[in-house]
Amino acid sequence: MLTGTGITKSYGSTPALRGVDITVGEGEIVAITGPSGCGKSTLLHCLAGILRADQGSITYRDQDLTLWSEAARSRLRRTDFGVLFQFGQLVPELTAAENVALPLLLAGSGRREAREAAVGWLDRFGVADLADKRPGAMSGGQQQRCAAARALVTEPKVIFADEPTGALDQLNGEQVLAAMVQVVREQGSAVVLVTHEAPIAAYADREIVLRDGALDPSGLGVGS
Ligand code: ADP
Ligand code: ADP
Repeated sequence: MLTGTGITKSYGSTPALRGVDITVGEGEIVAITGPSGCGKSTLLHCLAGILRADQGSITYRDQDLTLWSEAARSRLRRTDFGVLFQFGQLVPELTAAENVALPLLLAGSGRREAREAAVGWLDRFGVADLADKRPGAMSGGQQQRCAAARALVTEPKVIFADEPTGALDQLNGEQVLAAMVQVVREQGSAVVLVTHEAPIAAYADREIVLRDGALDPSGLGVGS
C-alpha cells in the first residue's frame, strides 16, 4: 500500500539516505532499525510526506506522493496518516480527552461525539480514568498512551511512529507498544515504526535495517 523507491535525501552536503527501497503492506507493521544517525527518522519523515526526498518516488495506493503539492500531502496526513513521536507532544493546556478529541474536532465532529470517542480511545489504552487530567499531571507512559490514542483516533490507514517508546523505560515502553499493536491489529492500520530497541522491533512483522543511509544487505537487525 505504501512503497518508497530509491529514496535519496541529503541535508546540505550530509547524505542521510542513498537510494532506499521499502514497501509496507496493508495492515503490516514494519520496523526501521539501525544505529543512531543511519537515516531512520529521515526515511520515516520522507515516507510520511513531512520531508521532501531529493530523489526517488513514494507511492501510496498507486499515487506518487512526491508529485503532490504540500497542501495535498498535508491533507493526506490528516485523513489517512497518523504520526506519533518520541515525546507525544500533547497540548499541555488541554486535558487528555481534549487532546485526543482534537483531531476529530478538526475533522468536523461535534463536541459531544468527539469527547465520547476520545474517552473510548483512552479506555483502549487503559487510561480512561485520566480523561480530565492535563499532561503535566501524568507519567511519561500515561502521556504516551494518550498520544497513541490521539494518533489512532481518526483510524488512519498508516501510523508513522518515530521512537514512540524512546522516552520510556523498557517495561513501560513495551506496555505502550503492546497496547498500540493490539489496537492497530483490530483496526487493520499499517505501522512504520522507527526504533533502535530490539524488544520493540520484535513487535513488528518485518524489520528493515539501515546502515549509513542504505539498506543493510545482511538484514541483521537489532534483535539478531
Ligand atoms: P537516525 O534517525 O537513524 O538517528 P537521522 O535520519 O536522524 O538518523 O539522521 C541521518 C543523518 O542525517 C545523520 O547524519 C544526521 O546527523 C543527519 N541529519 C538529520 N537531520 C538533519 C538536519 N535537520 N540537518 C542536518 N543534518 C541532519
Ligand atoms: P532521532 O534519531 O530520534 O530522530 P535525532 O537526535 O537524530 O533523533 O534528531 C532529532 C532532531 O534533530 C530531528 O528533527 C533531526 O532532523 C534533527 N537533527 C538530527 N541530526 C541533526 C544534525 N546533524 N543537524 C541538525 N539537525 C539534526
